[in-house]
Amino acid sequence: MPQSLATVTYIVAAMLFVASLRGLSNQETARRGNFLGIVGMLLAVGVTLIALLQSPVTVKLTHLGVLGAATAVGCLIGSVLAARVAMTSMPELVAILHSFVGAAAVLVGVGTALEGRAHDVAHAIETYIGIVVGAITFTGSIVAFLKLRGTIGSRPLVIPGRHLINILLVSGCIALAVLGGGRKEAVPHLLGVIGLASVLGAHLVMAIGGGDMPVVVSLLNSYSGWAASAAGFMLGSDLLVIVGALVGSSGAILSFIMCKAMNRSIWNVVFAGFGDTPKAKAKGDEEQRPVQQTNVEETADLLLHAKSVIVVPGYGMAVAQAQHPVKEITSMLAGRGVQVRYAIHPVAGRLPGHMNVLLAEADVPYDIVREMEEINEDFEKTDVVVVIGANDIVNPSALEDESSPIWGMPVLEVWKAAKVVMLKRSMAAGYAGVENPLCFRENTLMLFGDAKQTVSKLLTAIAAKMT
Ligand code: NDP
Repeated sequence: MPQSLATVTYIVAAMLFVASLRGLSNQETARRGNFLGIVGMLLAVGVTLIALLQSPVTVKLTHLGVLGAATAVGCLIGSVLAARVAMTSMPELVAILHSFVGAAAVLVGVGTALEGRAHDVAHAIETYIGIVVGAITFTGSIVAFLKLRGTIGSRPLVIPGRHLINILLVSGCIALAVLGGGRKEAVPHLLGVIGLASVLGAHLVMAIGGGDMPVVVSLLNSYSGWAASAAGFMLGSDLLVIVGALVGSSGAILSFIMCKAMNRSIWNVVFAGFGDTPKAKAKGDEEQRPVQQTNVEETADLLLHAKSVIVVPGYGMAVAQAQHPVKEITSMLAGRGVQVRYAIHPVAGRLPGHMNVLLAEADVPYDIVREMEEINEDFEKTDVVVVIGANDIVNPSALEDESSPIWGMPVLEVWKAAKVVMLKRSMAAGYAGVENPLCFRENTLMLFGDAKQTVSKLLTAIAAKMT
């Protein structure tokens, strides 16, 4: 195959990736976007394979063997994971996938250095940048994975002088890179840089608290893109440079948007709580105050006598898969003339857009699904708010308690409604590990139990009362 054809195909693949991203930005065009991405990737891999087939025999056989084995193992693991993973575990999967990109960039960097291809200053700089960004992404993503999984607690690890430690780690990387240069023999320097950057990645993410984890996941997504781009420079692959830059910049834009939604500064998250010292009153410090409990019958009466109802879905609704009976209840109420709407917080659940996907799955009409800024002013005119498995996103301490770790994060101001019914299984805190004073408010009623079971019983009770 002529080189020009390969180049044209790579350009087409790059254009398909851009079109894919554009499609993915909207729910209605997302499937098409996904499809374009698949076609782009098939083209890119196909052309690379054909180019290898045309290379000298010895190179061809070794390369094809390695490529075939790696692709087979990767496809197998990827398909099993993708088929098995629950929607609520998606961020964990995404985090661990980012760590693979980081590891790949480190390995490409090591290979480049050991083969002596980092011989001049420009190549040495791109090699060390690839290694540092790759190592930060690798360990940072592993820590994010463990935090999202709950293996490591979500509270931030705040070591005294942590910013100085970070500065020392970065300085150490720069010093070792300068001393090692692009020499093939500089293996200890190379290992030193990998070690320091790995500690830096883990430390940066350990210092970030639960409430900021959505931003961390999209930031690591961005880092993984830059790591891939750096690997592209080292391998002389324009397509990898372009794809890496697309992932890097779209991840950075998403991080920025999420920071705005959570009223956080991007620098604060990047430098792990720079300038803030959470005086956390968190998990484990729960007060033993009494709460007002309710039951299914009372809640059914409350809903049937309401003129306006807002449903606030959260992570617990996703875990319980309660969206279908919830939709049936809201349809019944709407059929009786009750004004029913859903309120969506930008970081509800464990994925950006998580609740929108669940509600779309249950065929909830788009026109009654409102974003936080569209509905926050309506709570005070609402009779009943039903909070289903949500906690952090309705926590008033974000607005009322400066010492709270989630202070400043915009939340759904549900407590302004006449009555709030909170469906959850216990008094446990949410993802950020912060106690929720909403549970103790005078107008809040707690309806304990698994969301799916409670909502199903509520559906039966409402149906019975309506006949
Ligand atoms: P939270 O994690 O704050 O609260 C969920 C609540 O659901 C818990 O308090 C839990 O209480 C309850 N729950 C769990 N399982 C069930 C069940 N089967 N039935 C009934 N209730 C259940 O979720 P929110 O949606 O309010 O907030 C999202 C949090 O996740 C935020 O802190 C956000 O920053 C973070 N996050 C968001 C990401 C995103 O991109 N959207 C990514 C990563 C983190 P109990 O155990 O008592 O039932």
